[in-house]
Amino acid sequence: MQIRAVLFDMDGTIYDSRIDWRALRGEIGLPYDGRPILQQLEEAPEPLRQRGFEALHRAEREGTENGDLLPGATELVALLRSQGVHCALITNNSRPNAEKVLSRHPIPFDLVLTRDDGAAKPDPWIFEQALRKLDVAAAEAVAIGDAHLDVIAAAHAGIRHIIAVAMPEWMAAHVPREIPYRTVGDLHEARGVLSEIGLR
Ligand SMILES: [Mg+2]
Repeated sequence: MQIRAVLFDMDGTIYDSRIDWRALRGEIGLPYDGRPILQQLEEAPEPLRQRGFEALHRAEREGTENGDLLPGATELVALLRSQGVHCALITNNSRPNAEKVLSRHPIPFDLVLTRDDGAAKPDPWIFEQALRKLDVAAAEAVAIGDAHLDVIAAAHAGIRHIIAVAMPEWMAAHVPREIPYRTVGDLHEARGVLSEIGLR
């Protein structure tokens, strides 16, 4: 296979926002059941819903301002683009936060899609939209993320090569058994897997 596009998640994959999602859920008073926090909050009764969104937005803002790129992110995107591979950032974070992260840590993505652009992961829409915009077939794309939401959304968009970077066990438990994906410890290992799949 010749890889034509790599679709990266942001938080926890190329960027360490240092958000402790389990602690945040505890603070808000939400149980963890595998659903994305966005969906849980949408479906929560008031005043939990509003209080929860405020806590989420505050945590995301702090993460945007205080986080840092994960090792190897800049180098991996540079390598891919030097080989003509399109790179996209596909995040459930907001567009203002994604743009702020990229203004603090410039990485030349060909495309950035956020939850402000349409249905968030695990809905496959955001991956399908990225493939349409890049004019790349699902069979020619690789998705790299750190959460079950990334794996599920990418698989349902028809992407067969999915790499999970340092996915915690409490998330891995929510990936359906029939979805295959590779697990790596960091982006340096992800680069090795990309070479196996089909980098020059
Ligand atoms: Mg993530």
